[in-house]
Amino acid sequence: MIYDCAKCSIHACRSGKLDRLPKNCPMRAEAFQKEAFAEYEKEENHDFYVNSSCIESEGYGQWTRMQEILEFCRKMHYTKIGLAFCIGLRNEAKVVDRYYEQHGLEVVSVVCKTGAHDKETVGITDEKKVHPGQFEAMCNPIMQAKAMNAAGTQLNIILGLCVGHDSLFIKYSEAPVTTLVTKDRVLAHNPCGAIYVYDSYYKGKLQDQ
Ligand code: SF4
Repeated sequence: MIYDCAKCSIHACRSGKLDRLPKNCPMRAEAFQKEAFAEYEKEENHDFYVNSSCIESEGYGQWTRMQEILEFCRKMHYTKIGLAFCIGLRNEAKVVDRYYEQHGLEVVSVVCKTGAHDKETVGITDEKKVHPGQFEAMCNPIMQAKAMNAAGTQLNIILGLCVGHDSLFIKYSEAPVTTLVTKDRVLAHNPCGAIYVYDSYYKGKLQDQ
């Protein structure tokens, strides 16, 4: 079954009007729905889920993402968090590190370039570098995750990791991961900008790519 919620305009899931389910609605897969709901009952998920939902309502429209993460840590009684950041956001990382430390959290921060291995180490050819002909350190998201695992962080924050590097970081992180900043080098780390103008000013530009 190909689910297609993105094209749905009924949104019976939101209204609770279950007599109006579209043909390819995932709610028709009752076995999966049951399986999913059973997972929320697990000890490892229950408080995590309930607290994150409470954050949504308590700070709705008032708390920034940065504050929401702090409030979530408070609810979960976390004391040690990880900050996996991009070298391009090193100044922002200083602010984020200071913010959480000022609010009583221990922050383990690891930059993407840790390891100082040239990109050619993993088979990226010189012409595929951003600046060919010179040393260019590869991002090392697996090491970022392993360092945080070793430090025993309870929640890891992504600050601007590259597409795919973020996926590997999430894959190797033992602690749950949340994103504070999603990198977009063109749109000042606001990927929604492309979405908002997709059908207007950027139409030709984005669709031709
Ligand atoms: S879950 Fe069903 S009702 Fe909700 S958006 Fe998807 S298809 Fe539509």
